[in-house]
Amino acid sequence: MSVRAKKHLGQHFLTDETIAKKIANTLTENGYDNVLEIGPGMGVLTKYLLQKKYTTSVIEIDTESVEYLEKNYLNLANRIHSKDFLKTDLTEIFQDNQFAVTGNFPYNISTQIVFKTLDYRDSIPELTGMFQKEVAERIAEKEGSKKYGILSVIAQAFYDIEYLFTVPPSVFNPPPKVDSGVIRMVRKKDYSLPVDEKLFYRVVKTGFNQRRKTLRNSLKTLNLSDELRAEEVFSKRPEQLSVQAFIDLTSKIQNDAI
Ligand code: SAH
Repeated sequence: MSVRAKKHLGQHFLTDETIAKKIANTLTENGYDNVLEIGPGMGVLTKYLLQKKYTTSVIEIDTESVEYLEKNYLNLANRIHSKDFLKTDLTEIFQDNQFAVTGNFPYNISTQIVFKTLDYRDSIPELTGMFQKEVAERIAEKEGSKKYGILSVIAQAFYDIEYLFTVPPSVFNPPPKVDSGVIRMVRKKDYSLPVDEKLFYRVVKTGFNQRRKTLRNSLKTLNLSDELRAEEVFSKRPEQLSVQAFIDLTSKIQNDAI
């Protein structure tokens, strides 16, 4: 028995064992003894994770997939969480332990998976896995690129990110419409943000909301002093600013006396 793919759950099952194995090998195994796989489906990736020395837990929203896993992966035993990743308090699963996140992710919630990981960054030293290629590139891209945006800046403020390899639609059932891309995010040694986090998110989001405009224009709504707005950096467009430049800009805005 197998599970029929459900479109609304972003189900695209991998059919190529070599690629499943290759994805399982993207975890560096540094800094954690636990791994959480999001969306194991019928376990094509899970079986390779279970061969490693860390402990694998899985979280799966589809009850039919969960039943399949319970029947076929007896060694996963009580580490199958029949839940929505986005609605689950991850400390209930791992308490204070560090854990890595991996998977052939459900593409309909890709960015939410990244943002949730960032929220839990104190517990998550590493994330590896497969997204649609365009999203994978957006996460990993550096300044100066059209694909560089909110997701890139915020993710790279806390993690070092590497685009690893591209996977064609032909190795999935059903095949997605686009190529997929596998990335690795490794938490920086010092990932503390030297500025107010909410303000940083706001500056990045507001800047990129009108990405063709200069920051002088797009950041008008932040009510900055004329003196600050006269500075050189405000003549730039958001995609020209490195992550560090965004942090420096946030620091200036935080200290702006008006
Ligand atoms: N890893 C499997 C399946 C990938 S498809 C494989 O490579 O074949 C994505 C999987 O994510 C599906 O099993 C889907 O049911 C699951 N999923 C979708 N939304 C989810 C959510 N919010 N929380 C947990 N799992 C989810």
